[in-house]
Amino acid sequence: MDLFGHEDPEEYAERRHREMMGPQKEEPHFKNHKEIENAIRSCAQCPLRKEGGLGPVLSSGPADSPMMIVGEGPGGVEDDYGAPLIGPSGQLLDKALFSVGITRDHVYVTNIVKCRPHGNRTPTIQEGSFCGSIWLVKEIELVRPKVIVGLGKVALRFFLGRDAGIIRSRGHWINYRGIPVMPTFHPAYLLRQSGRELVNAKWQVYYDLLAAKEQAQKASPGWVWKSETPPNLLETLGEERARRHSGEAF
Ligand code: SF4
Repeated sequence: MDLFGHEDPEEYAERRHREMMGPQKEEPHFKNHKEIENAIRSCAQCPLRKEGGLGPVLSSGPADSPMMIVGEGPGGVEDDYGAPLIGPSGQLLDKALFSVGITRDHVYVTNIVKCRPHGNRTPTIQEGSFCGSIWLVKEIELVRPKVIVGLGKVALRFFLGRDAGIIRSRGHWINYRGIPVMPTFHPAYLLRQSGRELVNAKWQVYYDLLAAKEQAQKASPGWVWKSETPPNLLETLGEERARRHSGEAF
C-alpha cells in the first residue's frame, strides 16, 4: 500500500486469491524425489484440482540434472499421459533443445502449476505463485539445478517476484535464491507466431537455451547432454497413462 492507503491492483488480486484459497499447509521437507512426487499426487490445496483434469502432472527427466526447465501448466496431452511439455508445445521445445545439443532425457522438466487448468487456459499469475510456492520450490530444493530455464510469463513472474513482460525480459538472467534463471518464450508462444516474427522468436529461444546450457556446463562440466537416439517420451508413458485413467495414480 502506498502513502494514501492505495493498494497496487496486482497485490490486491494476489491477496484476494490467497484469502479465497485459505492458508497454505506447511509442507514437510522431502528426502528424495519419490517422496515429493507422492505428496504432489495427493495435493488438493487449490481449486485447480477440481477443474476437470485427471490430477497433478509430475516432472520428467533426471532429478540430478544441472538444468531445470519450468513451463506453465499441463495441457490436454500432458494431462492425458501425466508428463509435462509433451504435447505440440513440448515437441517444439524438444526441437529447440536439440538445436543446442540437448535431448529431453538429460534435463529435468516440470511445470509451475501441476493441475490442468480447464480448457487449456494459461494458469493465472496467482495460481502459479500459489502452486509454485508449495511444490516448485521443493523440487528446486531437491534437484538443486545449476541453471533454470523459465518458459513464458507465468514462470518469469514467479522467479522475478514481480510483474514484467516476457518480450523485454527474455534473455536477461534473473537471480533466484542464488540460481541463475534464463527466461525465454514459451513454445506455445512460438506456435502462435508466423513469418518473420516466428523466425526471430526461434532465434531468440535458441540463443537463450544456448546461454543456459553454457552456464550449466561451466558448473557441471562432466554432464552428458545428449543421447544418440532421442527418446520417444510418449512411448514410455503408456503405463502412467493407464494408471491416470483408472484413477489408481492418486
Ligand atoms: S494446482 Fe498445485 S496447489 Fe493446486 S491442487 Fe494442483 S498440485 Fe495442489
